[in-house]
Amino acid sequence: MGSTALDTDFFRRWLTIAAAAVDREADRLTELDSAIGDADHGTNMRRGFAAVTEALEKDPPRTPGALLVLAGRQLISTVGGASGPLYGTLLRRTGKALGEAAEVTPGQLAEGLRAGVAAVAQLGGAAAGDKTMLDALEPAVAALDESFEAAARAAEEGALATVPMQARKGRASYLGERSIGHQDPGATSSALLIATLAQAAGSTPEGPAVAG
Ligand code: ADP
Ligand code: MG
Repeated sequence: MGSTALDTDFFRRWLTIAAAAVDREADRLTELDSAIGDADHGTNMRRGFAAVTEALEKDPPRTPGALLVLAGRQLISTVGGASGPLYGTLLRRTGKALGEAAEVTPGQLAEGLRAGVAAVAQLGGAAAGDKTMLDALEPAVAALDESFEAAARAAEEGALATVPMQARKGRASYLGERSIGHQDPGATSSALLIATLAQAAGSTPEGPAVAG
């Protein structure tokens, strides 16, 4: 993993790209949730991330930590579904781990996100293999020490790996064996969020970072 410092603008860029991706993919997320849930995951995520971008514009935070804490708070207060408090906790806990520094290293972000993912597991009482967002998030944060791209690949693979799993947590668990054969919506949105993290890291405010 590189040593480029990540400033507040990097995190603003990440969540702005993430909000656009969530908006674009909302129908697919809701479709996945209609198979094993209550068909609202895309709507929930869209509402939450719209509130995040609005809050970031209205009251621009001055540090990466403050930005993530504010974003997490928005998700908790605007998303009714289980995913709101879970993603909100992920961002808030990560933000708290980053403290008040003006910039953080990728290694510090990886550590922070690992604390955030641990908080998600604690809040939801779930572990990898339960067919939840953790099946994408845990491999992603484990691969973060390698690179953002490796984390994005691990999250995508983790989301795909939920297809043959039987859900043991959340609404999908009510279906028992009938939850098998469907990709978990939350693992899918997690893969999307990690993919946009890699996109934010691979781009500069001026445009994509290309060699030469
Ligand atoms: P709801 O299930 O309340 O309708 P969403 O549809 O927005 O909320 O989100 C569903 C997703 O939340 C699931 O696909 C799963 O990934 C995640 N999820 C649900 N319960 C848990 C849990 N206890 N731990 C971790 N993730 C969970
Ligand atoms: Mg739902």
